[in-house]
Amino acid sequence: MELTIIGSGTGVPSKTRAYPCTLIKIKNKYLVFDTGPGSLRQLFLAGVTYTDIDYIYYSHFHPDHSLDLVSFLFAMKYDTPERTKPLYVTGPRGLHEFHQGLLSVYGNTIRPKSFDLHRKEIERGKLTYDGWEISVEPMQHSSQSIGFRIGTPEGNSITYSGDTDYCDGIIHLAKNTDLLVLECSFPDDKKAEGHLTPRLCAQIAQKAQCKKLILTHFYPMCSEEIKNNKSLLAELKTIYNGTIVFAEDFDRFEI
Ligand SMILES: [Zn+2]
Ligand SMILES: [Zn+2]
Repeated sequence: MELTIIGSGTGVPSKTRAYPCTLIKIKNKYLVFDTGPGSLRQLFLAGVTYTDIDYIYYSHFHPDHSLDLVSFLFAMKYDTPERTKPLYVTGPRGLHEFHQGLLSVYGNTIRPKSFDLHRKEIERGKLTYDGWEISVEPMQHSSQSIGFRIGTPEGNSITYSGDTDYCDGIIHLAKNTDLLVLECSFPDDKKAEGHLTPRLCAQIAQKAQCKKLILTHFYPMCSEEIKNNKSLLAELKTIYNGTIVFAEDFDRFEI
């Protein structure tokens, strides 16, 4: 499996961090987790065109995570040759309503003509595919938020939190995972409800005993904290002694 942080930012514009989007490649399949505004182009810059994408997963429907579904569907409208492979879109409760809402606004401009669009809503449980499986647990953020753990038959796994606060769900989902990708929105002294901070991320990583912790989804004030607080990493290491990475756009990890 190969994971690329496509956008390490949030809903607030940043010169260096694009809106949330994460790409996972398993064998020859491309899975995208969340598609914030501009994800389509950001993926393109990472060497992946929208036509390559087979699966899109939504952690929740806040605009910074979901807006580019429209861009995906609109771009495919003018594909030459026309797309024939299906597109699978999975998300929490509310996905159908979200998609229907987009259809009612954009109509035929986003209605697939040449391929099947499969939608799946899931609150918790396991999805099985040819070559990987995905476990889903509710997260503590919006009322529908979910996190994902992607596992292969070889025993490798990646866990992606989407947006969440500290909760048992993410610790359970991430137990002994190889890569734990956590949102890290705010510095510890500016904690906001429904989001994590560096220290909370380290505590989750410690409890879950993951092999590597990748922090992403930085609001500008958390980006500043990472840049300016030279002792932050050392502090986090006293909580969690595995590898900790503050992600940048286009960072790539292989397991
Ligand atoms: Zn977010
Ligand atoms: Zn959110």
